[in-house]
Amino acid sequence: GAGIRFEHVNVTYPNGYQGLRDVSLTIEPGEMVAVVGLSGAGKSTLVRTINGLVPITSGEITVGDVSDGAAADGAAAGETYRLSTLRGAAQRRLRSEVGMVFQSFNLARRTTVLNNVLVGRLHHTPTWRSLLGAWRADDVELAMQALERVEIVQKAYSNASELSGGQQQRVAIARTLAQQPRVILADEPVASLDPPTSHVVMRDLQRINADLGITVVVNLHFLDLARRYGQRMIGLRAGEVVYDGPAADADEST
Ligand code: ADP
Ligand code: ADP
Repeated sequence: GAGIRFEHVNVTYPNGYQGLRDVSLTIEPGEMVAVVGLSGAGKSTLVRTINGLVPITSGEITVGDVSDGAAADGAAAGETYRLSTLRGAAQRRLRSEVGMVFQSFNLARRTTVLNNVLVGRLHHTPTWRSLLGAWRADDVELAMQALERVEIVQKAYSNASELSGGQQQRVAIARTLAQQPRVILADEPVASLDPPTSHVVMRDLQRINADLGITVVVNLHFLDLARRYGQRMIGLRAGEVVYDGPAADADEST
């Protein structure tokens, strides 16, 4: 996984609203972090800055090697991006390495689960063949492995619209996995799911984090889910970090 560092990050929306205020924090490679706060606190804004979906107004976000000083092993792990100046091809590479999962699963409903997951491969093989649906065998293999990891491989040839909400979200996670990301950002991934299904999806994210070492940043509405599945919790209020520490220690006052 890649590390993520925020240094004095501010986000001001075009209407003048300040979405993030002087946010500084470091997420280590392979961490699983829950971001909590009331509606409007800035959770979506924070995760969406990490892959450049929301541009930062000032400060710096670094994705990649965030160790202090010269770290030889960090350098070997992949590219390091500085988002304040990121443009063009480097921005596309960042987006291929930072996968996103949304509250609304955003699947193509009229095609198969497997085809949906293969979309994740377009980050790597956007050839005219793959765009026409003629996938290479190794792309199909990676997509099937991703479906196995979220335990839904038996639905590979079902139509996406036949799946329950929880199953659709797991397919969306598999699509992100097929992208072979270093970071997964999940923006309220369980907000439209019932509690038992929420646990299945959170366990999938937790397993992916633990088994593959992918850094996971997940926005959650409910403190109990954050306590249970985050190693670390970041609490936001009005765009400011008001808590940053072990998830298990956080109480209702934060
Ligand atoms: P959360 O995810 O915690 O609900 P958001 O990050 O979505 O919070 O929003 C934080 C604040 O920024 C809210 O007050 C929201 O209305 C505002 N906001 C979000 N996106 C925009 C935008 N594109 N333009 C203006 N204000 C926005
Ligand atoms: P979600 O449930 O996906 O967070 P929201 O209703 O918070 O949905 O936001 C939907 C979209 O509208 C987002 O892209 C967000 O950035 C934008 N948005 C949210 N609040 C505002 C606002 N006050 N002004 C303009 N755009 C906003």
